[in-house]
Amino acid sequence: MKEIEKNLVIIGSGSAGLTAAIYAARANLSPLVIEGLQPGGQLTITTDVENYPGFSDIVQGPWLMDQMKAQAKNVGAEIINDLVVQVDFKSKIKKIICDSKLVINTKSVIICTGAQARWLGLESELKYNGRGVSACATCDGFFYKNKTVAVIGGGNTAVEEALYLSNLCSNVILIHRRDKLRAEKILQDRLFKKQNIEVTWDHTLEEILGDEKGVNKIKLLSKKTKKFKMLDIDGVFVAIGHIPATDCFKNSIQLDKEGYIVLKEKGTTRTDIEGVFVAGDCVDKIYRQAVTAAGMGCMAALDAEKWLQENYSN
Ligand code: NAP
Repeated sequence: MKEIEKNLVIIGSGSAGLTAAIYAARANLSPLVIEGLQPGGQLTITTDVENYPGFSDIVQGPWLMDQMKAQAKNVGAEIINDLVVQVDFKSKIKKIICDSKLVINTKSVIICTGAQARWLGLESELKYNGRGVSACATCDGFFYKNKTVAVIGGGNTAVEEALYLSNLCSNVILIHRRDKLRAEKILQDRLFKKQNIEVTWDHTLEEILGDEKGVNKIKLLSKKTKKFKMLDIDGVFVAIGHIPATDCFKNSIQLDKEGYIVLKEKGTTRTDIEGVFVAGDCVDKIYRQAVTAAGMGCMAALDAEKWLQENYSN
């Protein structure tokens, strides 16, 4: 077991964590970034990125994250490949225990552990992921311009994804397992007004079919008649929720019923624990973009810097 002392530990290395690291390092806080299970975060499992500002041409997600990591290191952040397994935020100095048995005592923490899309668990969903199957319309919708796509789910995310896609695609079919949407009424009203969105009620997605070019059909099961039906489709957007990566904080910090970290004060990155800040998809269930996570990472570093000034400088 090795024990070290730090000013600021950043947990997670997606765009929120690495942006927080860049700002914190430039403010002389000598941050330590713990990369976590998926170094680089969700962008490392995407391919083309064309909505991250600053690049006139498409860039690759893994490349973008490599650049962010190199930038954080170049300005002085320390980055280690480890996984946080336990935290103790009860005392003013917070304790973080890593998988490698490294124990870190730190004055402040920024949590940027992100979230993962919830998937249906179909084998074919995995097979066609990135080749017709996506969990992010804002990221991938553009590739389905004037095509027919299906959106799976009945919550706010599914309806927002369907609305977004209806402005790009010729037809959008929302497939929901019940006969009522969970989404807010205002979103439902917008959905039902759209000419090119149809809703297939009481159906579940059973299989995604395709060829070497990608997805071309889906197989649905009616929950009422128990009959299967096939639909010709170019893309499938799974929008059945997200799972924030906050398991190891559940006894240490306030989480909402879905597991997202709760902000103490909206418009800041403060949590209910003094000196612990949060940024990115583990707190944001609405925007969930690399650029918004990066923006919030910057805010968290500025909040942490101010808090350290107020609480530790003499
Ligand atoms: P959600 O509200 O949990 O909805 C998930 C949807 O997926 C539900 O309709 C659910 O069906 C369906 N579903 C879940 N598992 C499924 C499965 N295995 N097979 C088929 N369907 C399945 O998730 P969300 O829409 O991502 O929203 C998450 C949170 O973020 C919510 O609090 C939401 O209000 C918030 N949010 C807010 C905004 C906004 O304010 N603009 C935007 C997006 C999200 P059932 O209805 O049958 O359970």
